[in-house]
Amino acid sequence: MVLDAPVVSIKARSFTIPTDRPEADGTLSWSSTTLVLVEAEAADRTGIGYTYADAALLPLINNKLAGAIRGQDAFDPQRAWRIMQGAVRNLGADGLAATAISAVDAALWDLKAKLLDVPLATLLGRFRSAIPVYGSGGFTSYPDEVLRDQLAAWVERDGCRAVKMKIGSEPDRDPERVRAAKDAIGGAALFVDANGGFGRKQAVTMGERFADQGVAWFEEPVSSDDLDGLRFVRDHLPASMEVAAGEYGYRAGYFARMLGAGAVDVLQADISRCGGVTGFMLVAALCEAEQIDLSCHCAPALHLHAGCAAPRLRHLEWFHDHVRIEQMLFDGAPVARNGVIAPDLSRPGHGISFKEADARPFAD
Ligand SMILES: [Mg+2]
Repeated sequence: MVLDAPVVSIKARSFTIPTDRPEADGTLSWSSTTLVLVEAEAADRTGIGYTYADAALLPLINNKLAGAIRGQDAFDPQRAWRIMQGAVRNLGADGLAATAISAVDAALWDLKAKLLDVPLATLLGRFRSAIPVYGSGGFTSYPDEVLRDQLAAWVERDGCRAVKMKIGSEPDRDPERVRAAKDAIGGAALFVDANGGFGRKQAVTMGERFADQGVAWFEEPVSSDDLDGLRFVRDHLPASMEVAAGEYGYRAGYFARMLGAGAVDVLQADISRCGGVTGFMLVAALCEAEQIDLSCHCAPALHLHAGCAAPRLRHLEWFHDHVRIEQMLFDGAPVARNGVIAPDLSRPGHGISFKEADARPFAD
């Protein structure tokens, strides 16, 4: 069988969705999230992908990237990925360019799977049929009762065996917030995320207190750019507490350097930043080579199928903002049951379709 379907169009649009409450972490606060949606067409089929980024991506995708890959065979998303990497060389291939490539690549993989009429997980080949999720939110802007209610709901309603809260805005208050969270979640594991908000020694001091309180995971205790600092913190904390980072990785070399530095116990990667499905599978291979577990960062509907195809996947971050947006705007968005999400194998590609009418009020 000869397969050939030239990509005829790539189109991007953006939608900005207000948060349901003010949100903040150790180094940032925000009141909205922008979804950049990409549609890729070939042979009368349309693949969709997306990233959470900024409307500034639209001209880059609609002009440069679309122009570079129009006419390429939709059955070879890897070749289109390589062409896009080349097209952004002089712009800087990290940051916004990487998120743009990620969204287009995700759309091309959805398109290929739809052309073959198979779920993406089946196209990639599965190591597992479901992915454990941990509830994630617990913003530093929340009153303690909101923090407690949100974390407890992930455990009681969704069956999550772990939940994560933000720390670092007011370090003096963090032990008290951690105590409130532990009280709310029973036997579930508690993770904390400082988003790079601490210095090295401060991170160790805080981490020792959190470890005494039973916290199992310390994410970005220092800036993820400080690989020696992550290693320092990891080496000085009890073995009961894992150090994680990687959500700002855009290309495979970044993850290789993080692993090579011994900076993390678990590597995080975000398919909507690290080069889409193609880039994510490269990171998954690095984790297999280094015998380090991988954890999917946010965007659950986009990670679900690729995560099933990653050899050493630990879990996926069931992030409040993205779960809410995906359930608002995509038919077929995953739903957590008994602490896991699973692909719907009756639907091709990512298994999601965009709810145009529901999205219209948020169009930029
Ligand atoms: Mg994080």
